[in-house]
Amino acid sequence: PSPAPSSPEPSRPAPSSGEHLVVVTNLRKSFGDHVVLEDVSFTVDPGTVTCVIGPSGSGKTTLLRALNALEVPDSGVVRIGDTTVDFAGINPGARGRLPKAQRTELMTLRRHSGMVFQAHHLFPHKTALENVTEGPVVVQHEPEAEATERARQLLDKVGLSEHADKFPFQLSGGQQQRVGIARALALRPDLVLFDEPTSALDPELVGDVLGVMKALAAEGWTMVVVTHELRFAQQVADQVLFIDGGLIVERGRPQDVIANPQHPRTQTFLQRLL
Ligand code: ADP
Repeated sequence: PSPAPSSPEPSRPAPSSGEHLVVVTNLRKSFGDHVVLEDVSFTVDPGTVTCVIGPSGSGKTTLLRALNALEVPDSGVVRIGDTTVDFAGINPGARGRLPKAQRTELMTLRRHSGMVFQAHHLFPHKTALENVTEGPVVVQHEPEAEATERARQLLDKVGLSEHADKFPFQLSGGQQQRVGIARALALRPDLVLFDEPTSALDPELVGDVLGVMKALAAEGWTMVVVTHELRFAQQVADQVLFIDGGLIVERGRPQDVIANPQHPRTQTFLQRLL
């Protein structure tokens, strides 16, 4: 792709008006004979935050990875922006051996989203700044000076302008996670995916990361967040998906799904967390 135009502020793409940004239809994924996602459908509107909650092993991470084409579902359709992938025609076991057209399709889908992982995903021998510029320079062929300028702005946004030249081992877990967020944003994704971004952190470091995520939500980034932080979900989510047994058992506003769950499985799950 041609390099993205430079902008004075690190900015997200303008959402297309009145349309869902993400449409997931009848997604199914199994590992061997273990069906992890049975039949998952939902939509995400531009500029909204979707929190995905549910018991451990219920398929939340698998769902997120499917949106980023890191996981190839058995069937179902994912549309993000102007890219639609029908997984029914793609062999999930073929990974590296897929026909070129299908690999291109998956890469095109992946470019719409940036992923923030649980932990330990920064390049250890690169500084915070280099970690953030890597994607734009190597993947998107952005001129280095431009990428560096934007990376500094993004590190500033996540509160790390003082730490740009430090290596991951010189940063706390929370700071590393904020570098991870800046790195995801550097690719100018339409959608930011967070996979339990605070679950590996010491409790005193969780607040800073959630604070950055709240600020991004307020800025209008579209976010899908797998999380156990119910208070964050209540404060920030526009919609909550409760997933269990490979299905979305309950979906709605946090004041409904979390504060007033209708389904017994949601009620049981939430009671255990309280
Ligand atoms: P959650 O994020 O809700 O904890 P996951 O999506 O990580 O759940 O995992 C759902 C189920 O799928 C788990 O039982 C897990 O062991 C299984 N699973 C995930 N990835 C793989 C894989 N690559 N191979 C085999 N089983 C997997």
